Amino acid sequence: MYLRLTSILSFFSLTSLFAQSNSSPLSIQHLTGDFYIYTTYNYYQGDRIPANGMYVLTQQGAIIIDSPWDTTQFQPLLDSIRIRHGQKAVMCIATHFHEDRSGGLEYYRQQGIKTYTTQLTDQLSQKRGMKRAEFLLTKDTIFTIGQYSFEVFHPGHGHTPDNIVIWFENQKILYGGCLIKSTEDTTLGNLGDASVTDYATTLQRVQTKCKNPAYIIPGHNAWTSTKSLAHSLRMAEKLRRKGKK
Ligand SMILES: [Zn+2]
Repeated sequence: MYLRLTSILSFFSLTSLFAQSNSSPLSIQHLTGDFYIYTTYNYYQGDRIPANGMYVLTQQGAIIIDSPWDTTQFQPLLDSIRIRHGQKAVMCIATHFHEDRSGGLEYYRQQGIKTYTTQLTDQLSQKRGMKRAEFLLTKDTIFTIGQYSFEVFHPGHGHTPDNIVIWFENQKILYGGCLIKSTEDTTLGNLGDASVTDYATTLQRVQTKCKNPAYIIPGHNAWTSTKSLAHSLRMAEKLRRKGKK
């Protein structure tokens, strides 16, 4: 039985390796309406990991939420938006200071795109030598761009002290970034800047604020399940219990 399990596991890791080596460096999938999820890849602890971002087409141009993790894909993302949809990107907001979110801020600023983070993200980016945005948010903010409105919400310290979520209340789309883990994930991932004690409470604040999301987009891996927030909360509660012992 043990041998059999091992061979099944290695079969799966081989097929996923195969699938990954064939996948393009930038994949774009339609979410709903004017909303698209794009994915790029990078290496973390030797594994090739996908990172999700989102873009929204508006009457004023495209809004990019988080820049590509793969630095070679900053321009291809802009090109894809232009070729597929005939739109220019007008805004990019990064949801925390880590490179898989903020890496393209400087490049996009140089392309004339308005770049945003919170002030807290900017402080951490400055301290850690990461790319920084042109415009800083000092509090939770509702943006209206073209026909779409969304709220930038800082629920507290989870994955990082500065992690924000983006909530399109009318469309019920919750962009969680790395604060929310995919239902595919079995751990909370990189906890280097995380809060063991606050992570669960922070996720509960997201649950209270963002009622009945129809879509929840985690920072990495599959985004098709809306159970990702509850799944992340269970892992964060476990982390808190372990941390308190
Ligand atoms: Zn991440």
